[in-house]
Amino acid sequence: MTDLFAPEKVVVIAGPCAVEAREQVMEVARVVSEEGAKILRGGAYKPRTSPYSFQGLEEEGLKLLAEAGETYGLKTATEVTDTEHAEIVLRYVDIVQIGTRNMANFALLKKIGRLTSADGRPVILKRGFSSTIEEWLLASEYITGAGNPNVILCERGIRTFETATRFTLDLSAIPVVKKLSSHPIIVDASHSTGNRDMVIPMSRAAIAAGADGIMVEVHPNPKKALCDGAQSLTPGQFSQLMEEIRPIVSAVRRDLG
Ligand code: PEP
Ligand code: MN
Repeated sequence: MTDLFAPEKVVVIAGPCAVEAREQVMEVARVVSEEGAKILRGGAYKPRTSPYSFQGLEEEGLKLLAEAGETYGLKTATEVTDTEHAEIVLRYVDIVQIGTRNMANFALLKKIGRLTSADGRPVILKRGFSSTIEEWLLASEYITGAGNPNVILCERGIRTFETATRFTLDLSAIPVVKKLSSHPIIVDASHSTGNRDMVIPMSRAAIAAGADGIMVEVHPNPKKALCDGAQSLTPGQFSQLMEEIRPIVSAVRRDLG
């Protein structure tokens, strides 16, 4: 499973922000698998800033994600937002994600580390949007210290004074992490920019800078998305992304697996 991530590969993780319905997640899975993504993402428990926003389909969403992954031969990744949901999330997915808002939820990091220590299931740890790289790497040690060495670090943008993008993508985190850690590092080009027009250029840049993978949000109809539509690629834009990253992946002497 962790051999998905290797120095000679670039892994593409793609899928909707949130699993909304069976047809939606199946359609995204079909498109992204045809284009060469290896991992299907989709939130079932959503950590929304507003309590009035769509919160996710919970267990039903996990089932739909698993079904879509199985149907199209994709590994699955979803976020766990609370220690209370840890067991149920781990029942359904291949990779578990800890989001930016939970990077410093040490009880959650320890619990996920402990529950995945037996099978070494990969844990994507996103950088807290106000966290230094040192704090992020220390947070990863709560997971490794609990018995699972298979952490994947995800740079997803940090808060700065800039307002033109949703966050500021810190691409320098890639070489810094490469120097300080042996974990793979991936870049989330969707949450960092907040704008679908910026996802392709920042994905190209992330790969050029040495990222081991990219994460992007894709929706069959972004205008109708219940969550993060503005930063979700259409299926057509996702194929464009794959076409544009191919020569860069080759230039850094890697392949898409
Ligand atoms: C997500 O990947 O769906 C998500 C909520 O990301 P982040 O934690 O980076 O905001
Ligand atoms: Mn999202």
